[in-house]
Amino acid sequence: MQPHGQVQPPSRRIRPRRLTAAGTVAVLTLALSTSAGTGRLAPGTSTAGPGPAALSRTSAHGPCMISGGSEIQMSEGVPTSSGYARSTGTVRALTLMIDFSDAPGEGKALDRYAEFFPKTEEWFRTSSYGRLDYRPETPIRDWLRMPKSFAEYGIERGAPFEPGYRKLVQDLVAAADPKVDFRSYDLVNVLVTPNAGPSALDTVLSVTFAGNQEAPVADGVPVANASFVYSRQDDGSGSYDETGYRVLPHENGHVFGLPDLYTQEGGGAVGHWDIMSEDWGANNDLLGWHKWKLGWLDRTQVHCASAPGTTEYTLTPLARKGGDKLVVLPLSGTSGYAVELRTREGNDETVCRPGVLIYKVDADVDTGMGPVRVYDSERDSGGCTRSPNVHAELSDATFTEGETFKDPRKGVTIKVTGKDGTGDVGIRVTRK
Ligand SMILES: [Zn+2]
Repeated sequence: MQPHGQVQPPSRRIRPRRLTAAGTVAVLTLALSTSAGTGRLAPGTSTAGPGPAALSRTSAHGPCMISGGSEIQMSEGVPTSSGYARSTGTVRALTLMIDFSDAPGEGKALDRYAEFFPKTEEWFRTSSYGRLDYRPETPIRDWLRMPKSFAEYGIERGAPFEPGYRKLVQDLVAAADPKVDFRSYDLVNVLVTPNAGPSALDTVLSVTFAGNQEAPVADGVPVANASFVYSRQDDGSGSYDETGYRVLPHENGHVFGLPDLYTQEGGGAVGHWDIMSEDWGANNDLLGWHKWKLGWLDRTQVHCASAPGTTEYTLTPLARKGGDKLVVLPLSGTSGYAVELRTREGNDETVCRPGVLIYKVDADVDTGMGPVRVYDSERDSGGCTRSPNVHAELSDATFTEGETFKDPRKGVTIKVTGKDGTGDVGIRVTRK
C-alpha cells in the first residue's frame, strides 16, 4: 500500500489579544507555528459521494481555470480536486458534541450546538445565494463521552492526524455508531466541550482534516471531512454571541476544499475580505474566487479576460444574488488576477470603503502560505475600519471610481469607470 497522508491544513493560529491601552484598536497578535501537513491528497482518490460541485465553466473559462502542482496540499486551483465534501445542494452535516472525563461537558450539549446553529447554515445560505442548503443534524443530543481523558489524546495546536486524532476519531465512531449511520452525511462537525484544552485566546486548537481518505472508516465510509471546534473564540469584546460561531464556517470551508488565507503574518495578505483569512470578530464573506470554486456562481457571472484588448464589464455587488460577479485575468497556468465588487451587505458587515477589490490568486502556493494577495489601493493608510479583530490596513484596499490598478510588467490595467444608481460599478480592463 502506498504511504500517503491526509490533507491537513495547518492548524489555525490566529490569536487575538486585546491591547489594554485605552483607545487602542485591538490588533491580532499571532502565535506562529506552521505545521505543514504531512501529506497530500493522493491522486485519483475520490469520495463515495459526489465531489465538489460541477463548476460553471466553459471553454471560454479554460484559461482562467488555473491549477497548482500535485505537491500542493490545498490549492486555489479550479476546479477543486476530488475528495472534499460537495458544496452545493443539500449538504448534511453530522454534528456531535463530545466531552471527556477530565473535561466534562458543562451545561447541555444542545447549548453548545446552539452556539453555532442556526447561524452557520444562515451564513452559508447567504454567502451561496441559496445554493448550499446546509443541514446540521444531531442524532445524539447529549454529550458523547470519549473513553480516554482529553490529556491522553495528546491534542495540541498543530497536532497531526496520527496518532492522537486517529484515536479520537476511532473512539468517536465507536461511541456514535449505534445511533449514527455515517453514510448519511457529507461532513462531520465535532463540537468539543469548550473547557477541554486552552483558551482560544492563548491557543486556537480548532482544525479540519479534509479529503482524508486514510481516516477511520465508519459504516463503510472514511470519516474524510471532519471539523473540530474547541474553546470559544471570545475576545472579550462582547460580540461572542454574534460572531463566535464564525470559526465553524471557516473550518467547513476547508471541508469544501478552501485553503487558509492567513499566513504567518496573520491577516495581512487578504485582510477581512474572506472568512478563510479572518474568522474572529465581525462577520465577513468569501472572495468571489472562492464562490466560483465552490460552484456558487453561474458561468455567465464569471468572465475570463484572457485576450489582449480592452473590455468593459459591469460588476454587481458580490453579496447580492444575480449579475456579473467576477472578472479573472489569467497570468499563467497557475495564477491570475481576480476582480470583484464588495459592499456592506449580506455577510460583509465591516466593509467601510465599498469598491472594487483586486487580488492575485496563485494555485501553486499552498494553504497558509499566501495563495491570495489583495492589492491595497491606499497603502499605509491605516485603513478605514475600527472593528476589533479586523485587519485594518487592507480594509480600504478597494479601488473606487476613477482609480486605476496597473501592472505594467504584465501589461494589465484595470480602471474603475463609474457607478450607476443601482450600486453596480463599471470597470475597464486592458491587456497588452
Ligand atoms: Zn483554517
